[in-house]
Amino acid sequence: MISRFEFPFDHQFATLGNQFYTQIPAEGIGKNPYLIHSNSDAAPLIGLPTETFQSPEFLDYFSGNQSLPGSHPLAMVYSGHQFGQWAGQLGDGRALLLGQVRNADGDLWDIQLKGGGKTPYSRFGDGRAVVRSCIREYLCSEAMHALGIPTSRALCIVGTGESVQRETAEPGAVFTRLARSHIRFGHFEHFYYQKNHDALKALCDHVIDEYFPQHQGHYDRWFADVVSQTASMIAQWQAVGFCHGVMNTDNMSILGLTLDYGPFGFIEAFDIDYVCNHSDHAGRYAYDQQPMIGLWNLHALAHALSPIIPSEVTTPILSEYDLTFNHHYFQLMRQKIGCAPSDSTHDDLWIDLLTLMASQRSDYTLTFRRLADSFTTPISWTSLFRDPGPATEWLTRYHYSLRSLGAEDRIITSLNQVNPRYVLRNWVAESAIRAAEDGNDYSEIDKVLQLIQTPYDDHLDAIHYGDPAPDHYLGLQVSCSS
Ligand code: AMP
Ligand code: MG
Repeated sequence: MISRFEFPFDHQFATLGNQFYTQIPAEGIGKNPYLIHSNSDAAPLIGLPTETFQSPEFLDYFSGNQSLPGSHPLAMVYSGHQFGQWAGQLGDGRALLLGQVRNADGDLWDIQLKGGGKTPYSRFGDGRAVVRSCIREYLCSEAMHALGIPTSRALCIVGTGESVQRETAEPGAVFTRLARSHIRFGHFEHFYYQKNHDALKALCDHVIDEYFPQHQGHYDRWFADVVSQTASMIAQWQAVGFCHGVMNTDNMSILGLTLDYGPFGFIEAFDIDYVCNHSDHAGRYAYDQQPMIGLWNLHALAHALSPIIPSEVTTPILSEYDLTFNHHYFQLMRQKIGCAPSDSTHDDLWIDLLTLMASQRSDYTLTFRRLADSFTTPISWTSLFRDPGPATEWLTRYHYSLRSLGAEDRIITSLNQVNPRYVLRNWVAESAIRAAEDGNDYSEIDKVLQLIQTPYDDHLDAIHYGDPAPDHYLGLQVSCSS
């Protein structure tokens, strides 16, 4: 543990030089910062003692009012394809990398403020973030982590006391997130489109040296790993019913982390065409498009890397993507029905189940979660379907097949270890937002955090948080502005 705020900084990204970023202090927008929430689960990643959460300096540092001693605040420059179109230069328009910390395990972690003010890359934006979107990102990144899905992490939300204009005036906040890296596909595209091949190579070398040291001297193997990690991450999204919402290349992590939570959503009533982003009118980032978009984005990355890795090398690697994705996705789906990851003999069961779920709009999370109960109380499962007839038929077939595998108790236990009881449903996030915004009550964030941090436990005292929206939340529209 460090002594209070003396972080073991190791500013590796900054050593790349100033064509990669603009050095800039936070604007200091929160004159009266107040703590909304801090996450004792993430603090150890940067060696931060949790006692510091209560100190006044904590608020000053993590609102951007004061520079963290030894920090090297910078806004990164990157570019990207947005909704399939080349968007040119983007960059950290409201994010600030305070610095990188080398923790006791030797891992480098970025500390990044989001909403700390304008940067040279803010374009038309105000550099701010609102309490609503900070709570959503805070809770969802921790939910994803607990589900075993690679993601950025959440350290804290500090309210600024400032009002920020979105569709309406909303309370402002600064969110601090941690990630092994915030380098995106768009970083590589930026230098490729600038024809700055030296910088492109320096960036590749930096990423390989720091995050893929096993591939030093082998750009091809590194690229194959990026393809594989991206495919694996998206397979996990699909298996848990997560929709990212804005899979632009500037939101794609080079480390295969789920990054930049905006209008995300977990599917409730199953619909493969689910679009969580209301401004995505064409459904480019619909749930069932995500695997294909992952590949599209990797093609954009391969194109940007072409001066370093020729297309004759990247093309065959990209052609492996579908196989890798299917390998991971099939393994996960088999486990969701209680089969061994490599046992393909019952694939028809989960494939038919998805068809049934889609035709009857059953709740994605509960349909899998209640499979364990279905052995003793079939009605708890069939009641999730509008027409119990086909559901009962499927369930009979399922029980028959699984009983043939033997060891029913073991299967039932395994089902509850892979099928979460809790995901971050929009209405649950909204309940935490409402309590925070309307009553300055942050206990709901605390409660939801506890549930999503242990999503496989039943939490019988809070079980309704794992259910679809109660009536007073029906028709909830989640704003896509952040
Ligand atoms: P996103 O798709 O939300 O990850 O953001 C796309 C780009 O817009 C990134 O360059 C962001 O930094 C920038 N951006 C988003 N919101 C704001 C804002 N309120 N102020 C400045 N830049 C922003
Ligand atoms: Mg982004």
